[in-house]
Amino acid sequence: MTARIIDGKQIAMRIRCELQQKISLLPQTPHLAIVLVGNDDSSLIYVRNKQKAAAEIGLKTTLFHLSETTAEEELLSLIDRCNNDSAINGIIVQLPLPAHINTHRIIDRISPLKDVDGFHPYNTGMLQNNEKPYFIAATPLGIMTLIKEVCPDLCGKNVVLIGASLIVGRPLATLMLNQECTVSITHIHTQNIQDLTRKADILIAACGVAKLVKADWIKPDSILIDVGINRADGKICGDIDYDDVLGKAAAVTPVPGGVGPMTIAMLLQNTYDAFIIQHQPL
Ligand code: NAD
Repeated sequence: MTARIIDGKQIAMRIRCELQQKISLLPQTPHLAIVLVGNDDSSLIYVRNKQKAAAEIGLKTTLFHLSETTAEEELLSLIDRCNNDSAINGIIVQLPLPAHINTHRIIDRISPLKDVDGFHPYNTGMLQNNEKPYFIAATPLGIMTLIKEVCPDLCGKNVVLIGASLIVGRPLATLMLNQECTVSITHIHTQNIQDLTRKADILIAACGVAKLVKADWIKPDSILIDVGINRADGKICGDIDYDDVLGKAAAVTPVPGGVGPMTIAMLLQNTYDAFIIQHQPL
């Protein structure tokens, strides 16, 4: 048996087409402000990709590209201006920020109603309380969409996460728990990690270690979600050894073409939702 390949590229394309349709019917164009500080190579690529994807479906973006030496107060006042500008519906600050800037202070300043990355404590707190936040972080939201494609009923499933970051592992664990899964969150200090991964109905690898998960780490017929983006032998690969697990898993996401395209699609979805939320009658 060969695992089903969960085609994130195709699912993301479907979502983007639906969004394009819905945006074409709006009276105004939803507008996303992207704040980038410095010239980190990866960040420049990520921002360019987000702008391109937004333009393709008719979303407007404005890039505020500030120098590496920008003071925290200057960045805060830019956030204030974006918060107060009714023509801007969503705000994202590309991470990581330079070391002299307190990331939490910046994220906390974004209006929760415009926080389309879903990182603001209001939104993460609502998720934690199993209430409806305005926005859920794009990568976990995209992963949930992928999992639902192959496993619509998550109740009672044993889920193991490798990686406990603020942007992937933790919000995803909460989303899974809110769906009545039994969730184990593992990280770099977890001992005997394979004892846990071998019991997972759904295993999600988000640790940034190339091909860490091998066939003998997994339960037969499990669902595997690979969030990692790594470079090994000159090629992009995930945290799961894709070729090794193909004959044992029930379903697996490829890298590239799995979680990555979904992250961008969900950011676009959140920006559309921001416009709708802000234009709802009070
Ligand atoms: P991070 O560095 O913030 O966190 C990594 C987590 O993995 C930590 O909790 C750490 O303890 C854990 N970890 C590291 N090595 C481990 C090991 N050997 N065993 C078990 N746990 C280990 O990373 P992040 O920002 O969450 O990103 C993780 C990976 O996902 C990276 O490869 C990143 O590029 C990728 N990523 C992809 C997308 C996407 O859209 N596809 C989005 C975000 C992150």
